[in-house]
Amino acid sequence: MQEAKKILITGANRGIGFETARQLGTKGFNVFLSGRDEKKLSEAMDNLGRQGISAEMVLMDVSSEDSVLRAAAILSSRNVRIDVIINNAGILLREDRSLHQIDPVALSTTLNTNAYGPLRVVRAFLPLMNKPGRIINISSGGGSMSDPVGGWSPAYCASKTLLNAFTRHLAYEFTDKKISVNAVCPGWVRTDMGGKSASRSVEHGAETPVWLASEAPQSLTGKIFRDKQEIDW
Ligand code: NAP
Repeated sequence: MQEAKKILITGANRGIGFETARQLGTKGFNVFLSGRDEKKLSEAMDNLGRQGISAEMVLMDVSSEDSVLRAAAILSSRNVRIDVIINNAGILLREDRSLHQIDPVALSTTLNTNAYGPLRVVRAFLPLMNKPGRIINISSGGGSMSDPVGGWSPAYCASKTLLNAFTRHLAYEFTDKKISVNAVCPGWVRTDMGGKSASRSVEHGAETPVWLASEAPQSLTGKIFRDKQEIDW
């Protein structure tokens, strides 16, 4: 029997990350559920357990180099191999209203979590990855350079533009490693971040990341997807 694929999902204690873990767990993936808060993470594990999905907990704050390296070292010491990484953890800060006025700490926290965080995770976990492997970065339409600027949360939007650029460069660098790297715009999703008025359910928001992790052709790489279709960015 083929061994179940192992997937690491960051920021997976709630929202799109949790739902992606739930859907992939239902499909038979071995889920490494990652988050920065131990209590929230164990509640999410219990929630998955009640739905018959067994997962393992990985305590990791993607904004901290030490935390990410520690998490990778723990899995490495157990000889864990990872098939898919989903970089889902992200923040959108209330004070993110104007790029020329935003507090510098809020700006660097946003870039550090949303763009450097995924890159940090990739760098730390790359030695643990199976080939072929897949990396999926949860981006946002707000990062698009082809759509007009929307005027909302500019630091967040710029962090996602940088994440899209990292996606394309890593895809190029990993061609010989047989690791695909793609990004996803999940649409406007009803989560703590998206708010109650958002147009999409969390189940819908998780569909494209789940597809990229499971059914999408391995040859797709360096692209940005929404609703399983490549989009401009
Ligand atoms: P959410 O409900 O606010 O969940 C965000 C998750 O990220 C939480 O689990 C949070 O953990 C985690 N997180 C934040 N900072 C972290 C850090 N430093 N280390 C580890 N985990 C961290 O948001 P969501 O809507 O599910 O968003 C998931 C992804 O989709 C994000 O990348 C977001 O930018 C993207 N996205 C969302 C929408 C939307 O409409 N919702 C649209 C486009 C893109 P805590 O519970 O510990 O805070």
